[in-house]
Amino acid sequence: MEAINTIQGIRDKVASFKNEGLKVGFVPTMGALHEGHISLIKLAQKYVDEVVVSIYVNPKQFGPDEDFEEYPRTMESDLAKCEAAGVSAVFAPSDAIIYEDETYLNITIDSLNTYMDGGSRPGFFEGIVTVVNKLLNIITPDVAVFGQKDVQQFRILQQMVREFNHNVQLIMGPIIRANDGLALSSRNAYLSGEQRKVAPSLYRALSYVKKQIENGAKNLDLVLKHQKTELEAKGLKIDYLDVFSFDTIAPVNEVKPKQKYILAGAVYLGETRLIDNIIIELHD
Ligand code: AMP
Repeated sequence: MEAINTIQGIRDKVASFKNEGLKVGFVPTMGALHEGHISLIKLAQKYVDEVVVSIYVNPKQFGPDEDFEEYPRTMESDLAKCEAAGVSAVFAPSDAIIYEDETYLNITIDSLNTYMDGGSRPGFFEGIVTVVNKLLNIITPDVAVFGQKDVQQFRILQQMVREFNHNVQLIMGPIIRANDGLALSSRNAYLSGEQRKVAPSLYRALSYVKKQIENGAKNLDLVLKHQKTELEAKGLKIDYLDVFSFDTIAPVNEVKPKQKYILAGAVYLGETRLIDNIIIELHD
């Protein structure tokens, strides 16, 4: 496995795969790799011959008060994990390689950016769309895999690929969880022992709401309100806990059969922001 840090270097590598008639998959990450990332690599390997992983902590997707400086950087062990997972090449560029000193273009995102994390983190998805747009142009993969953990990201990138005509198939991998239900995340490293014990309550709340919906609960708002109160009592600060349309990322107050919804929550445990979601599709 090669670790490559120049654009020409990774382009040449991908070209060598394609010249041999091999299909190329791509898994973008910010490093601090865990089983969630590895599951996306394994999923990509089902579709393609060679998987490229990028490891890049993208400054453009962090707000001024967010954790860009603190974000865990564990390049050596990340490379070992990629090698063990059968990754063909890692693209690990510096900021200077990815961003020009002076730029003149900015991406704006319309309504898909109004709710969920788009509503809470100004500039977040603009930063993601910018960097993924670049990475897809650099790597030109046949398939790119993203996690359901960041489901709004997936939905926005799906739209980006469609509207900007990227020639790539996007695939969404399921959320990998710890035994107690907590969604794996590089940011879980910030949690204290006590906070780590409380953290799975977000997934428990989402699972409870899902069950209520499946059991035909009429007053969705009330069910959500109860769960918010329970989480607050455990010391979590709620950013949002709602049901959204998968297609439009707008909140709904009713779940209809045969439509796709995202039951999603974002909470703060101390300074650490946790997100999680469950996709809901009722059949009649
Ligand atoms: P990140 O390094 O956090 O930017 O995430 C890189 C990719 O891994 C994104 O597509 C995430 O959605 C995905 N990912 C993060 N956590 C998980 C998880 N627990 N299970 C599956 N995929 C995940």
